[in-house]
Amino acid sequence: RAKSLGKASYKVFDTPMFMETNKLLQLESDLERAVENQEFRLAYQPIVSLSTNNLIGFEALIRWQHPRRGLVFPGEFISVAEETGMIVDISYWVLREACRQLYVWQQKFLNDQLAISVNISSKQLSQSNLNQEIRQILEETNLDARNLKLELTETTIVENSQSTIEKLWQLKEMGVQLHVDDFGTGYSSLSYLHHFPISVLKIDRSFINRIDTNSKNAEIVSTIITLAHNLGIDVTAEGIETLEQLELLQKLQCKYGQGYLFSKPVKASAVKSKLRPFLHEDRSYRWVH
Ligand code: C2E
Ligand code: MG
Ligand code: MG
Ligand code: MG
Repeated sequence: RAKSLGKASYKVFDTPMFMETNKLLQLESDLERAVENQEFRLAYQPIVSLSTNNLIGFEALIRWQHPRRGLVFPGEFISVAEETGMIVDISYWVLREACRQLYVWQQKFLNDQLAISVNISSKQLSQSNLNQEIRQILEETNLDARNLKLELTETTIVENSQSTIEKLWQLKEMGVQLHVDDFGTGYSSLSYLHHFPISVLKIDRSFINRIDTNSKNAEIVSTIITLAHNLGIDVTAEGIETLEQLELLQKLQCKYGQGYLFSKPVKASAVKSKLRPFLHEDRSYRWVH
């Protein structure tokens, strides 16, 4: 015990540790400036129906256009933004911008079925005015609530309190859909599912990754899909990269998919050139890769 304490206190004066702290402080002050200067952008990745190949909508993914470092990905700053609380402001910007952009596309592509998926952090879910903010954003942007899908991880859902559960049910009543992100990596208990108004499970990329080479992964995915369907929940497969993966998922009746096979996340201005009308009477669009 004493020994480990000694080690720990020694570490404080360790050079890498010192640098870590410095880096962290730099990142925090950079983030503060980024919020003020609006250095964030959204990338959009298509979500596709695996049975028709029709475009269902997009997931909005944040990017940081750093003045010195260039494009910074969320893995590098979301957790720090969470810890400092800056995530709350950032997240409302994401929601507003994503809803605004989707409405523009709905008008442009004459398709009011297109949906937008937005990642919601734990901090944001614990905000007492979350639902009010969402209601206001939907009003401001003219977007129909049923076109907004909120992605929450298992951990976010489970670690939050009773008031969170109520909040989630209110959102459902408003018409907003709740999707469980990275399913299979977190709490990994299925028993909580029926307590929450969940529309879709997004199976984590790590299972889809090797679904075609690892029969255990295929078994897990198959089991999740069957269970979800029994509960009246749909399934999206994340991170589809190969045709083999796609075909296997189609065989397993997985309803939706997302991944580099269809498209990487792209900036808004690139979305239009990727879409080509697929002349259904219902004006749905096929994703062209
Ligand atoms: P996520 O919500 O699970 O998003 C999917 C991530 O997988 C994205 O990474 C996406 O680019 C990547 N991806 C999609 N298809 C493939 C594929 O076929 N292969 C591979 N290798 N990767 C694929 P990204 O954009 O770096 O985002 C990472 C995470 O950061 C997201 O994971 C999400 O948890 C978080 N995040 C992104 N945007 C936001 C945001 O606006 N707010 C919050 N709170 N978190 C966000
Ligand atoms: Mg997500
Ligand atoms: Mg995910
Ligand atoms: Mg993920």
